[in-house]
Amino acid sequence: MRIGIIGTGVAGSLLAEALQAKPGVEITAFERAAPGDHAEAGTGLNIGPNALKALRLHMPARHASLRAASLPWERWFIDLADGTRLFDLDMRDVAEEPGVRIRWSELYRLLREPLAGRTRNGHVLEALEEDAAGRLVPVFRTAEGLARDGGFDLLVGADGRYSRLRALTAGEPDSLPLNVCIWRLLVTDVADCPYDDYGQWFNGPHRLLSFRVPGGAVYIAGAFPLPEDGQIPEALKTPAAQRALFAPADAPPGPAVAWMLDRMATEFDDIHWARVATAPMLRQAAGGRALFLGDSAQAMVPTLGQGATQAVECGVVAGMVLASGGTADEVAALRDPRAGFVRDFSVEASDTLRAGADVVAGTRAKMQPAFLAKLRRLYTDVA
Ligand SMILES: Cc1cc2nc3c(=O)[nH]c(=O)nc-3n(C[C@H](O)[C@H](O)[C@H](O)COP(=O)(O)OP(=O)(O)OC[C@H]3O[C@@H](n4cnc5c(N)ncnc54)[C@H](O)[C@@H]3O)c2cc1C
Repeated sequence: MRIGIIGTGVAGSLLAEALQAKPGVEITAFERAAPGDHAEAGTGLNIGPNALKALRLHMPARHASLRAASLPWERWFIDLADGTRLFDLDMRDVAEEPGVRIRWSELYRLLREPLAGRTRNGHVLEALEEDAAGRLVPVFRTAEGLARDGGFDLLVGADGRYSRLRALTAGEPDSLPLNVCIWRLLVTDVADCPYDDYGQWFNGPHRLLSFRVPGGAVYIAGAFPLPEDGQIPEALKTPAAQRALFAPADAPPGPAVAWMLDRMATEFDDIHWARVATAPMLRQAAGGRALFLGDSAQAMVPTLGQGATQAVECGVVAGMVLASGGTADEVAALRDPRAGFVRDFSVEASDTLRAGADVVAGTRAKMQPAFLAKLRRLYTDVA
């Protein structure tokens, strides 16, 4: 079986690694980035315990290398901006092992390492053709011009949220906005940072999120509701306007919020601004000849840190199924209910980010048995 993998991000790298030595399977991975170029990934991220469980069960060497390159995500606390604590969770109460905190560039380096010399880098998927046997033939733009590598029995779209393979086989997906802005920043002047593990700080529905990552850096993300037109007002893109959103009006900010706002103001030009959105889920297209994994199938809202986490589950599960001679339908049967649950739960957990939210009541509800049971399902219910 000839399998072409488009994109060696999270899902594509893991799938390629799982399939690369399997008899009867010939894989070729195509990636638009140059070898060793992980520069598009400037920030940090947290990966959930469920991804670690999937790796531990099915790709133990990758589990060990990810642990070694990261810090453990052992705790999750939620404070008000003045420092009042609302929520404090030991991740082991809802998971079998901690998650991890890591830099993006390090995650990509680690996942792409086993594919060194086996990936066609500098290949940007541009178009699709068919061969005489009805197999899909991807057409790539390269520095030398257009390139083809023949027909594939299965093409895997692991090319992220703006998947070209999905657009070519099923049209551009609708964007389903949450009407929330999220900005992200990685700061490296962190000697006096007053916290370590994963925290969130709310001032109304305006939320800062932050944690340390390896290499002496701290990841900071700010989120706030957008006006009804869904656009990020230019007037809010100043340090003073952001400070007014995240600092309490009637009390001094707690030490963590004060520290983040100072770092944010100093490194304001490095902020990456985005709008939070999901897209309709799609696992297969082109009569089963195209299979989608990770963001190309199930773009998530970032609220529960499940984007890359679900891409890990996708890569591991698809690797397990296809390596044992299973089909894309079997991958879909395992992944669709799970990804649907995680996507819906991530949207549900975004309640405290919406305009007019009662953040105190919404956060306290997250310490109640119903929410904790869902978290336990999220973090442990892995194929
Ligand atoms: C700043 C930021 C912070 C985030 N934080 C978190 C977090 O804390 N926790 C979490 O779980 N998720 C987080 N996410 C979400 C996470 O990035 C994605 O969900 C995850 O990367 C999806 O993995 P993937 O394998 O589907 O796609 P990606 O990792 O996006 O990989 C896609 C790959 O395809 C390649 N590619 C794209 N188009 C083409 C093409 N036409 N031809 C060839 N190659 C192509 C790209 O170069 C890339 O290598 C964050 C996202 C961003 C942007």
